[in-house]
Amino acid sequence: VRLANLCVEGKPGLGLVTGSGSETTIVDVAALDSRLPRSIDELLESWDAWSPLLAALPHDVADPSPIAPADAELVSPVCRPGKIVGVGLNYRDHAEETGQPVPDYPTIFAKFPTSVTGPRSDIVVPSVVERPDYEGELGVVIGRYAKDVDASVALDAVAGYTVINDVSARDIQNRTSQWTLGKSLDTFAPIGPWLVTADDVPDPQRLAIETRVNGKVVQQSNTRNMVFSVADIIALLSSVVPLVPGDVIATGTPAGVGGAQDPPRFLEDGDVVEVEIECLGQLSNRVRAPHRRRLGAV
Ligand code: ZN
Repeated sequence: VRLANLCVEGKPGLGLVTGSGSETTIVDVAALDSRLPRSIDELLESWDAWSPLLAALPHDVADPSPIAPADAELVSPVCRPGKIVGVGLNYRDHAEETGQPVPDYPTIFAKFPTSVTGPRSDIVVPSVVERPDYEGELGVVIGRYAKDVDASVALDAVAGYTVINDVSARDIQNRTSQWTLGKSLDTFAPIGPWLVTADDVPDPQRLAIETRVNGKVVQQSNTRNMVFSVADIIALLSSVVPLVPGDVIATGTPAGVGGAQDPPRFLEDGDVVEVEIECLGQLSNRVRAPHRRRLGAV
């Protein structure tokens, strides 16, 4: 199923997403099963207990009163992740464009949880950042505690998948060998638009991924081009640190980031960045960067 965290008239709500394209509808889960909690974050705290109820929700709901998109604000499907783990250089083409060899081990960094923002929210770039850049990525949301899990069973720990834009301040990221600071600014982790539960994603390594800036395609790849698969990443991480429900993994970005273009093209005030993944939906975030206003006519 597809689950959305909503803000309905200032209150949190859990939405069930049905239909596709212009027919996409969101239904208030409370109207379908009042036992279910009001957010995905709460679901994740007892994922195994809630899963049967989620599976029993009707996929096609002829609901007389779907939530009108104008009345409901989509917020991130995970509002309070314990940790966001980033994976660097995880697509062969992206490693090449940055001039780095394909690594033996994935580069792991953190994005602080305060960086999370909604799938339609603004990316706000403060003046301390001169080189804001996008990274469209498959997001993995953990639903079960995982420590020392083998890759063959690692996907059992996944609650579902979503889309994440690993927005990066290249100037701050590359001041030192540690990337975390440049990855962690407020609003630099748009996540959403919803969570697609793992049972509805037959193979996370067979998903088309595309990023557009102002409608122009800048990244286009498929998750099959990852160096380290989702299962590999979970197995490797869990051999060192526990993964707990609500944790998010940003699994790396394909080629085409702005900083690797010739000349580099960083995000500017008013840009709209869309990241779309097959089966998972799309993010659409406007950039607010008053200090990076375009010179001359737009
Ligand atoms: Zn990234």
